[in-house]
Amino acid sequence: MFNLSVLLEDGARSAPEKECLVFGETRLNYAITDMIANQVANLLVSRGIRPGDRVALASPNLPYFPFVYFGALKAGAVVVPLNVLLTPREIAYHLEDSGAKAVFAFTGSPELPLGQRAYEAFNQVDTCETFVDMPAAAGATESTIEGAQTLWAALDGQPGTFETVQSSADDTAVIIYTSGTTGKPKGAELSHNNLMMNAVVASSLVNPHPDGRDVALTVLPLFHIFGQTVMLNAALYRHATMVLMPRFDGDQALELMQKEGVTGFAGVPTMYWGLLNAAQNAEPGKYDLESIASNVVDAVSGGSALPGQLAEDFTKLFGVGIKEGYGLSETSPVASFNNPATGAKTGSIGRPVWGVEMKLIDPEWNEVVKEGDGDPVGEIAIRGHLIMKGYHNRPEVNAEVLKDGWFRTGDIARRDEDGFYFIIDRSKDMIIRGGFNVYPREVEEVLMTHEAVSLAAVVGVPHDTHGEEIKAFVILKDGSEATAEDITSFARERLAAYKYPREIEFRTELPMTSTGKILKRELRDS
Ligand code: AMP
Repeated sequence: MFNLSVLLEDGARSAPEKECLVFGETRLNYAITDMIANQVANLLVSRGIRPGDRVALASPNLPYFPFVYFGALKAGAVVVPLNVLLTPREIAYHLEDSGAKAVFAFTGSPELPLGQRAYEAFNQVDTCETFVDMPAAAGATESTIEGAQTLWAALDGQPGTFETVQSSADDTAVIIYTSGTTGKPKGAELSHNNLMMNAVVASSLVNPHPDGRDVALTVLPLFHIFGQTVMLNAALYRHATMVLMPRFDGDQALELMQKEGVTGFAGVPTMYWGLLNAAQNAEPGKYDLESIASNVVDAVSGGSALPGQLAEDFTKLFGVGIKEGYGLSETSPVASFNNPATGAKTGSIGRPVWGVEMKLIDPEWNEVVKEGDGDPVGEIAIRGHLIMKGYHNRPEVNAEVLKDGWFRTGDIARRDEDGFYFIIDRSKDMIIRGGFNVYPREVEEVLMTHEAVSLAAVVGVPHDTHGEEIKAFVILKDGSEATAEDITSFARERLAAYKYPREIEFRTELPMTSTGKILKRELRDS
């Protein structure tokens, strides 16, 4: 029996004065953070929340997130983190699908009235009985949402101690709705054990700073599994300080890294791209890049493929190699890691992490093994402590993706003779041009080595004779010029005839999910 909230409670017991959360001028130690989470737990119990009830949480990376996340867990409730960009209709879908009884939502800035959207959804869903507004002004007791109560008003008089509900390791702790780059969102049920094990394993992979400081720039959204495990749960397990950043901006990130002496950072590739751009385009002397680089000892990328060129450019400027991790919401998420400490290979997602098995399978679940000279290629299947219990209320889909403890990922990879996996692509993103399979990632890697190209995304578009044609969306580097013909001929020289893009469209930005993944579906439909 235990509860994932021990991650925060242990810090409050053994390092109470240590800084836990930093946001702007707000600095909260472990003891205070835990005390507020206890108040939230008491509030939930007083509103009739019982173990197993679902509590939805809609918040960007602000202190509110850990307050409510751990408060709900302490009460034995299941947390349902919501993406902050959802529309009222989408929020209502998540509330209904998960059967949420309570909703905590950040009011938001005027451009992002998240609280209003959540309140509108709350009013449409019968199972939801409690709505709590987390106001933009910390401590505010008057809500700007008509009819709602603020967290601070609701917490008034709630005791700061709480007897945490001891859960069974296999009880669901969190329902994470998967990213939405594919199909209708489904809620992956992750247990206390899934999340605890992954936090511990992820922590064991962090490079320690020689002077013992552990300051984590927390910009990956905490509502997404990557941020939640790697930046929240694992950071608290290590008693680290989380420097919270609600929205990624390369310049702001550099400023915070400099000001707070950040030692570790995890991000999706587009964040590395943003950091690099901000550093390269900054006026001379604006940042002390040397001092920033000397503090950073740990840089992790995941969530989507890290282009080799980007990794190289980043390492040149910041002096730290990026470690690439791989995983999914359904795997809590960290499944494999390309770790320089134990040997890394360029372009690889590494080998399975501690206690995890990976294999390659065909569509019928048969293992693909090495035959002859070539490396085996197939869909990655994963087994171990990290695999979700299943999608909430989706027995048919569960039967398709879970078998004998194995989970099939939908990601196509190759495994070399040393056991390193190399992602080829999402099976869904594969383009079939004239009967040949083309993996967009391979084409993107080539395009990004062109000196004028900053970012490239490749998709398949319908074509009368070939079925699909290859199209590239390209962002050029600031001050660089290139024509569509330049790019096409560059790619033609380096790729087989069926792989190079025939259509090039220049853009100044690309549609992305709030976790920084390029929305290929939107590009295909554009
Ligand atoms: P999500 O459930 O939103 O975390 O998305 C999981 C998907 O992200 C995986 O199925 C992969 O397609 C992709 N992904 C995660 N990490 C990597 C990586 N290091 N390289 C390539 N794709 C990745």
